[in-house]
Amino acid sequence: MPDHPFIYLDHAATTPVDPRVLEAMLPYFSQKFGNPSSIYSVARESRRALDHARETVAQLLGAQPREIVFTACGSESDNTAIKGVAEANQARGNHIITSAIEHEAVLETCHYLEKRGFRVTYLPVDAMGTVELAALEQAICPETILVSVMMANNEVGTIQPIREIAQLLKGRDIVLHTDAVQAAGSLDIDVEALGVDLLSISGHKFYGPKGVGALYIRQGTKLMPQLHGGGQEKNRRAGTENVAEIVGLATALEIACSERPETTARVQRLRDKLRDGVLAIPDTIATGHPRDRLPNNASFCFQHVEGETILLALDLQGVGASTGSACTSASSEPSHVLTAMGISAAVAHGAIRMTLGKENTDEQVDAVLGLLPAIIEKQRALAPV
Ligand code: PLP
Repeated sequence: MPDHPFIYLDHAATTPVDPRVLEAMLPYFSQKFGNPSSIYSVARESRRALDHARETVAQLLGAQPREIVFTACGSESDNTAIKGVAEANQARGNHIITSAIEHEAVLETCHYLEKRGFRVTYLPVDAMGTVELAALEQAICPETILVSVMMANNEVGTIQPIREIAQLLKGRDIVLHTDAVQAAGSLDIDVEALGVDLLSISGHKFYGPKGVGALYIRQGTKLMPQLHGGGQEKNRRAGTENVAEIVGLATALEIACSERPETTARVQRLRDKLRDGVLAIPDTIATGHPRDRLPNNASFCFQHVEGETILLALDLQGVGASTGSACTSASSEPSHVLTAMGISAAVAHGAIRMTLGKENTDEQVDAVLGLLPAIIEKQRALAPV
């Protein structure tokens, strides 16, 4: 049994709800339970909360309140953005450009559209996981209607050149979507400065609740709704609004943005300490961009060992981390992100992602650095690959 409380290093998977967020949400489950579309006082309270949440999120993203649509998760935001633009613009063209390292919420949506007559270009990335702008420029053709490139990668943390992409698309009739699910909370987001038309976020990645997301839709962007029914969200997403969770998402984003300078400095320092300590282990490679990366992301490949076995050993020692990919067994495919970066399948199988959060401490990092070398050494001796 580990002699310390559980050490959570998987904040890219999800985060605990901040107690202040929970407190803000609680009244909307019971006392203030009204349907925001009804007209009596308890409902008006819900409507006010919903409007306030929308104004907050819009202001924090540099958008107008009418440009924010609340959804049930980051995946829904991505699906709505991509399918919505594809369906609304198919008379103009059938070509979509995305990158090879997107989250499944984007990649699988693109695969779905490919089966329905759309053509998709998956842009390559360089060895650090940055999308190649020259390849984007080459891929653009008269039929291109949409470019979707993530703001920051969920596995290796590399931040993508979204502004440069927007600059490249300027003057062309092409919609630009970015999946900012990993970036929101950690990075400053201003949709005007970025130059994007659509941007996805998800509450549970920045100390908000699971099951709520938002999609920024620039005024004038043609988009086919993906949920049909009532006229909620200005006819862009039917369904009674999940007021408590929406309040939670807005409160969490507000806290994340106001505390970002201190949180980033602290988390980044801990991340660098963790990275430097881990890289002292022989045959270990750091993955992702050395500088343009999320401040909380440390990702590695340990050679001659399976990432999964390291995770299990860490779990037994009371540490939660991730391989960073959906890979769950030694025989499954290596991460599509790492292979797109040119990392061999053999090396990619030893991938580990550690993502820190605001509640992590120096003592926890020290504890992990104390455990990891022996774990790696033992696993390499037991099951060399
Ligand atoms: N996009 C990225 C980059 C993600 O990391 C995730 C979740 O891990 C998603 C989309 C999906 O978000 P959700 O879990 O809210 O559906």
